[in-house]
Amino acid sequence: MRHDPRVLSVLAAAVALVVFLIDAFTPLDIAIAVLYVVVVLLVASTSSRPAAILTSWGCVALTVIAFAMSHDEHYSGGPVARCLVSLLAIATASVLALRNQKSTATLQEQLQLLDLTHDAIVVYDMNDLITFWNQGAEQLYGWTTQQAIGQPVHELTQTRSSVSLDEIRRELLRSGRWQGELQHVRNDGTTVVISSRWALWRDAKGKPRAVLATNNDITVRKQMEGELRRQKDELRATIDAIPGMVWSSSSDGRLVFINRRWNELGVTCVENDGDIWRSIVHPDDYGAMQRAWREAIATGAPFESVSRIRHSDGVYRWMHIGAEPLRDSAGKILRWYGVNTDIEERKQAEQALARSEAFLSDAQRLSRTGSIATKLPGGEMWWSDETYRIFDYSKDVAPSFQLILARAHPEDIALMRQAYQQSLAGVPLIDLEHRLAMPDGSVKHVHYVARLAAPQSANPEYVGALMDVTERRAAQEALDRSTAELAHVTRVTMLGELAASIAHEVTQPLAAIATCGDAALRWLNRPQPDLKEVGQSINQMIHDARRASDVIRQIRSMAQKRDPSHAVLDLNAIVRESIELVRRELDAHRVEVDADYASPAPSVCADRVQLQQVVINLVMNGVQAMSGITARPRELRIRTRSFDARHALVVVEDSGTGISEENAGRLFNAFFTTKAEGMGMGLSICRSIVEAHGGRIWAESQEGKGAVMQFVLPLDEAKRNEY
Ligand code: ADP
Repeated sequence: MRHDPRVLSVLAAAVALVVFLIDAFTPLDIAIAVLYVVVVLLVASTSSRPAAILTSWGCVALTVIAFAMSHDEHYSGGPVARCLVSLLAIATASVLALRNQKSTATLQEQLQLLDLTHDAIVVYDMNDLITFWNQGAEQLYGWTTQQAIGQPVHELTQTRSSVSLDEIRRELLRSGRWQGELQHVRNDGTTVVISSRWALWRDAKGKPRAVLATNNDITVRKQMEGELRRQKDELRATIDAIPGMVWSSSSDGRLVFINRRWNELGVTCVENDGDIWRSIVHPDDYGAMQRAWREAIATGAPFESVSRIRHSDGVYRWMHIGAEPLRDSAGKILRWYGVNTDIEERKQAEQALARSEAFLSDAQRLSRTGSIATKLPGGEMWWSDETYRIFDYSKDVAPSFQLILARAHPEDIALMRQAYQQSLAGVPLIDLEHRLAMPDGSVKHVHYVARLAAPQSANPEYVGALMDVTERRAAQEALDRSTAELAHVTRVTMLGELAASIAHEVTQPLAAIATCGDAALRWLNRPQPDLKEVGQSINQMIHDARRASDVIRQIRSMAQKRDPSHAVLDLNAIVRESIELVRRELDAHRVEVDADYASPAPSVCADRVQLQQVVINLVMNGVQAMSGITARPRELRIRTRSFDARHALVVVEDSGTGISEENAGRLFNAFFTTKAEGMGMGLSICRSIVEAHGGRIWAESQEGKGAVMQFVLPLDEAKRNEY
C-alpha cells in the first residue's frame, strides 16, 4: 500500500508542531524532542533528499529553540543532557534515513531499467505469487502491474508446456536455471508461444525465495518456422517427385545435395561425395564425363554428358546428366544444379531405329524397292537410298518430281503427269506402272504405289514404294513365252492324238461333196436336165466345202505358232466348237454328251485357241477316264454358267474313274500322269492358260461316279452388268 506524500508531509508537520509545543511550553522533564525522529523518518520516506536534510535541520532548530524558551540562563545538567540526547537521536535518524533514501533511489532506478527492456520480466515467490511485473510483461500479457501483483502466475497465464511444471521446478531447484518453450494465454484470450528463461533466487542462507522469469513472445517466429518447414518439406517432396535424379554441387563440383531418386542407384546420402560419380558411372564413360564436368566447372558453361549409370540392381542404364550454374549478382558461380534423366528407352529406341533403318536399307536394296515421301500441298519429296539408285541420281541432288520426269520414258510422261496431278489433289491411293528411260539407253520398268498418310492432319503426305520390276517383267515375259510355246507343243501333240477325229471331220464333208457332185452330174446328164436339183446339189457342195474349210482353218490355227491375242468371245460358242472338234472321239468311245449353255451367253475377253485347248483337254481327259467304264453309261455333261457377278463358269463332268484323294493334290502339276502314254502336261497347261486369263481351275471328284473339272473366267467388263 502506497502513502500519499502530501498526507505524510502534513502529518509530519503536525507531529513537529505538537512536539515543539509540548517541549517548549510544558514543564515535562523528559526528552520529548526525541520524537522529532518520527518527523525526520516520515519526511525522508516520502520526500526528496534536500527536503529530508532541511527537515532534519528544522527539527534540530526547533529542539534548540524549545530548550532556549523553556529554560532561562540557569542551565541545570538534566535538561542539557536531555537536549543533547534529542539532538543526537535526530542526527542519527537523519543519517540513517538519508542513507536508506539513497539505496531506495538506486533500487528504484534499477527497477526502472528493468522496465526499459522489451522482455517480459516476471518475479514470483515460491508460492508462485507474482511480486514483480514489468512493462514488457504488461505489453505481452495485457494485465497491468497492479492487476498482476499477488496473482498466482501459472493460473493467471494458464501455463502449458511439453514437460510438466513439477519437472521444471525440480530442474530449477537442482541447477538454479531452466529455459524452454511455454504456452501462455493472454488477457484477451489469445494463446502465445513463449521462450522462457527462469532463474532461482536464494537468500543469504541459501533458501529459495523467488523465481525471475524472462519471457519472449516467439509466436510469429514459431509460425514462420512452421511455414518455412512446410515450404521446405513441400520443395523437398517436389524435388523428390521429379522423374530424374536431381542434385546440386558446390562451385568446385562437390556434391552437396541429392534427391530421393538417387536411392535407385543405391545412393542415399552425399557423405562420400568425392566418389559417388566414380562408383556409379560406367568405367568406360567415367573419363569423358569427368573431363566434361571439370571443363564446365572451369569455364562455367552448362554441363552435359550421356553416360551409363549403375543402378542398385547392378544394371547400367543410359542417362543424360545435365547441370547449370547458379551465379551471384557479380557473376560468380555459387552452386551447380543438375538433373540425371533416364534415357535408356530412348537409347534403345534409337538403336532399334538405327537397326531397322539398316534392315530396311538392306531389304530395299535386295528387293529393289525404294521409298518416296511426298508432302502436300507443295510436293516436296524425300527419297530413300534405293530410290536414288533406281533413278540413277547421286545422293546430293534434292529430290523432286522434275527429276523423276527427266527419267520418264517418252511414252509414259503423260501417265506420270496425270498421277502426279492426282497426288496433288489428294487421292487416297496411287498405283502406277511405268517405264524409265535411263541415261545409258536402257529401259527400266517400275511399279509405284503410294498411300495418303494422315489425310486429316495439317501436313498430309504420300508414303510410297517404288519397285524396280524390270527383271520381274523380263522373267514374266520369258515365262509367258515358254508357256505359249509349251501350250503350242501340247496343242500340236493333242492334234496328233485327234488326227483320226480330224480326218473324219474333214473327209466326211469331202465325201459329201463328191456324192453331191455325182448327183449334180446325174441331174445334168438327163435328157431333160433338172437345173433346180443341180442347184440344190451345188449348194450342198458349197456348204460341205465350207464346213471342211472351217475345220481345216481351226486345225491350222491350233497348229499355228503365234502369240496369244485376246478378243471378246462368246463362251458358249467356244465350248460348242470344241465339242465339234472332238465329236468323232466322243462317238468312237460311245460317250453321250449333254451340253447345257448359259443364257444369255457369257462374254469373256480371251484367246480363242487357248480357250478351245482348255475345253478339249478337259473333254478328252473325261473321255479317257470313261474308256474303261462298262457298268454304267458314259456320260459327259458340259455346262456354262454365270459364277458370280464378275465371273463365268465352265463345268465338264464325266462318269469315269474319278480322282483318288492321293492324286487330287497334284493333278495340275506338270508331268503328273497316271496314263501309260500320257505326258502329264495337259492340266498344267490348262491352269497356266486359265490363270493367265485371270481365272481359276479346280477339280472335284464324286466318289465312284466320276470327276468334275471346272474353271471360272472373268466376264468381259462391258458385259458384266448383264449378269
Ligand atoms: P495326261 O492326260 O497326259 O495324263 P493331264 O495333265 O491332262 O495329263 O492329266 C493328268 C492326270 O490327271 C491324268 O493322268 C489323270 O490321272 C488325271 N485326270 C485328269 N482328268 C481326269 C478325269 N476327268 N478323271 C480322272 N482323272 C483325271
